[in-house]
Amino acid sequence: MALSDQFVDELRGILGPEGLVMSPEGRLVYECDMHTYYKGIPDVVALPSRTEQVVELVRRCHQHGVPVIPRGAGTGLIGGAMAARGGVMIGLNRMDAILEIDLPNRCATVQPGVINLWLTRAVAERGYFFAPDPSSQMVSSIGGNVATNAGGAHCLKYGITTNHVLGLEIVTGRGELIRLGGKVADRPGYDLTGVVVGSEGTFGLVTEVTVRLRHAPEAVKTVLASFPSLVDASHAVSDIIAAGVIPAALEMLDAVIIRAINAGVAPVYPTEAAAVLLIELDGPRAEVERQGERCATVCRERRALEVRVARDEAEQALLWKGRKEAAGAVGRLTASYLLQDAVVPRSKLPDIMQEMQTIAARHGVLIANVFHAGDGNLHPLICYDDRQPDELRRAGLANEELLQACIALGGSVTGEHGVGVDKAKNLPLQFADADLNFMYRLRRVFDPPGIMNPDKLLPSHPACGEGFRPSRPTLPAGTWI
Ligand SMILES: Cc1cc2nc3c(=O)[nH]c(=O)nc-3n(C[C@H](O)[C@H](O)[C@H](O)COP(=O)(O)OP(=O)(O)OC[C@H]3O[C@@H](n4cnc5c(N)ncnc54)[C@H](O)[C@@H]3O)c2cc1C
Repeated sequence: MALSDQFVDELRGILGPEGLVMSPEGRLVYECDMHTYYKGIPDVVALPSRTEQVVELVRRCHQHGVPVIPRGAGTGLIGGAMAARGGVMIGLNRMDAILEIDLPNRCATVQPGVINLWLTRAVAERGYFFAPDPSSQMVSSIGGNVATNAGGAHCLKYGITTNHVLGLEIVTGRGELIRLGGKVADRPGYDLTGVVVGSEGTFGLVTEVTVRLRHAPEAVKTVLASFPSLVDASHAVSDIIAAGVIPAALEMLDAVIIRAINAGVAPVYPTEAAAVLLIELDGPRAEVERQGERCATVCRERRALEVRVARDEAEQALLWKGRKEAAGAVGRLTASYLLQDAVVPRSKLPDIMQEMQTIAARHGVLIANVFHAGDGNLHPLICYDDRQPDELRRAGLANEELLQACIALGGSVTGEHGVGVDKAKNLPLQFADADLNFMYRLRRVFDPPGIMNPDKLLPSHPACGEGFRPSRPTLPAGTWI
């Protein structure tokens, strides 16, 4: 969209010349997130360093009816931080201060541009950590984690981002600065903090976050169990939880990804396995010992080929290095891939793993799996070569069928990455029209002018663009109108 010179001058007046990216090359950097299929170049990138500047920017955009696209580190996997209709992208990276560490109240207050891992590093020596740990935690921002309600390997035991956010400051689509929640957990009124977490920048921009800090556990044990089939490993996942053990993390990797990691990262996992489970237990030492034995017994009952406990911190770190660098290792397997993030109830893992093999065979595609098995949160990587148009088509079909199979098993279209542009069209699989319309009305409460991150999170109505509409009641066949 064309922005008037007067409007751009107003933005420059708020931020100064160093606060705007105007050049075509500069803006190109911001054309997509890590889902590079969806592209949209913003007309301007604004880089505020103070909350008052964010307020002023949004007010001007509101006056001129210009879309606002919040952006953290741009590691999203949903086509969220990209300018589908142009407009002003507001990058929060310069607002990257840890404002307060309050150990007596076990919380910290940070600006949105703080990188997830920085917070744990800032408190680790004092025996604390910030629990939500997306695999992107070295690079993704806490503002982005809040906006997408990020999960991670250790969220099985500790909960996802929303369970760790106590309070928020946001600038709404109207340019109001509001504070939600606070350090005290039980506050009167609506849980608006919970409503904003996961809203993907469609309500406004998060400019400050108060999060819980957790005390580091006394002991940590990492167990690796290998299995002759994905189905055996999937049964073991449910059996471990049913045996009363909640591991801090319970991850599964299949033979395809094991091959890629062993070749690309380090020879970490057993080559003969069809699947491995990476199980991390933490807590008081005696309890961790007992849980380790229980997990080993369950895995052996499910035909484990080998159950190995990491001997020391170095081996533990190596086992996790393979998992955390899996996404990079996939480059050895394929030129491109579609990454799915659907969920099934964990007891349905054996069914979906079988179904996935059938879908892969039907469409002649290679699917690699590395995922948060304890949460039933799948991350199949559907491989294709984009120089072969038919491969992309077949990968797309496999992707859609897999999503529908997860929903049919009682699952969800997304477990942690969020919706963005990518999954918006899929929400009607999971929600009734009335549910979606209610969400749409809620969005308008925070963003009456409809400028915040358009086209993301909710499906657009084909006739009127943004905004969902009730389906018309169908008339019986043969009715005269
Ligand atoms: C290798 C890799 C591994 C990953 N692993 C995981 C994982 O384990 N778990 C997981 O959940 N995700 C994972 N992700 C996805 C991604 O890292 C997360 O979604 C992360 O939370 C995004 O943070 P970001 O700062 O990069 O946000 P961005 O990508 O910049 O933005 C994400 C969304 O949030 C909005 N947004 C950003 N900042 C703000 C703000 N301050 N206020 C309002 N809205 C805002 C944007 O508009 C966009 O819609 C992974 C990504 C990669 C590349």
